Amino acid sequence: MGVAPEHAFALDVDKIRADFPILAKEVHGKPLAYLDNAASSQKPLAVLEAIDHYYRAENANIHRGVHHLSELATKKYEDAREKVRAFINAERASEIIFVRGGTEAINLVASTFGRSRVGEGDEIVITHMEHHSNIVPWQMLCEQTGAKLRVAPIDDRGALIVDEFEALLGERTKMVAVVHVSNALGTINPAEKLVAMAHERGIPVLLDGAQAVPHHAVDVQALDCDFYAFSGHKMFAPTGIGVLYGKQKHLEAMPPYQGGGEMITTVSFEKTEYNVVPHKFEAGTPNIAGTIGLGAAIDYMQAIGLAAIEAYEHDLLDYMTSRMSAIEGVKVIGTAPEKAGVLSFNIEGAHPHDVGTILDREGVAVRAGHHCAQPVMDRFGVPATARASLAFYNTREDVDRLVAATEKVREIFA
Ligand code: PLP
Repeated sequence: MGVAPEHAFALDVDKIRADFPILAKEVHGKPLAYLDNAASSQKPLAVLEAIDHYYRAENANIHRGVHHLSELATKKYEDAREKVRAFINAERASEIIFVRGGTEAINLVASTFGRSRVGEGDEIVITHMEHHSNIVPWQMLCEQTGAKLRVAPIDDRGALIVDEFEALLGERTKMVAVVHVSNALGTINPAEKLVAMAHERGIPVLLDGAQAVPHHAVDVQALDCDFYAFSGHKMFAPTGIGVLYGKQKHLEAMPPYQGGGEMITTVSFEKTEYNVVPHKFEAGTPNIAGTIGLGAAIDYMQAIGLAAIEAYEHDLLDYMTSRMSAIEGVKVIGTAPEKAGVLSFNIEGAHPHDVGTILDREGVAVRAGHHCAQPVMDRFGVPATARASLAFYNTREDVDRLVAATEKVREIFA
């Protein structure tokens, strides 16, 4: 099959697995094969310990206190911002806004930047492979403003039809919002090229990077995107923390998102002055522990190395794709030439939910459903798929277990 074993990579998977206590769990009396990473990834000890340490030894509110613990917590919080900056190669730490997750990041842009730019008759271009969180906020903006949503099509492999994307960019296009890596299909979009096409016409671009950052290095300056959104919990950090990157010039010009403490410099009943970015967009007490956990997750990923993670997962995806495709009655949905981490599939005669349940009885955790991407399901004429999704701690053994469990499903439904 021409695929290299795990030890051929600069990545010690046994050692890595030992860092994730949950991976040693048994499910229904079987060892866990966790293949639902696109939904949420597991957390290494380094992240768990960073959060634990914060609550045990550093807990205080940030930015406002003059006492030792508050200064310590503030430093940890701002250190995490710098780690995120370096992780995605943003020019400045002030371009990093902490939010609840990718969903909130996109909503923030739609309801501030979008709301101040988009008017009646204007157009917002997205693609057919977006997650609902990169569809609905723009639809809501269209409802509020009278703008129109235009959708760039995808081909039968699940790749964006780039020419048709470009053809949609016109005089009335005020915003482009595109997923970097599709959660339902695994397709990697040619983000840099799409951004360049939009910029040639003066159109700003938001990239939804929720499924990109766990799998390969992202450089927002090289991409030249205006906004980049992602969630912590899909990249080995806790839930409830995410990031919006925005170019400084946009963040400064945008109205605030939520009002409250921290996002102001002075408040009177007559007039309120807003704080500088990024604080203008971080109203109220933020998820301090989650932010520190995100910083620890970044340190952890960088210690392994993003290039090593990408190479290892690429090989594992090839292995999973070839083994699963070889099973009679299995149809893989999403076969674009450039893919990361995800294998969506259906088994002839079996409903994806039944597939998910039977796999679970074998200790194999996958997701079954529409993956918050119903238009993708419609495009492929299926109500749902089963989806196995990888992280760097998965092994060929996990894949072999998936294959064996899938063969069992076949026997049951044959
Ligand atoms: N975008 C993509 C591509 C996703 O896969 C997800 C989550 O599955 C999101 C956005 C939303 O992320 P969250 O639910 O963490 O806000």
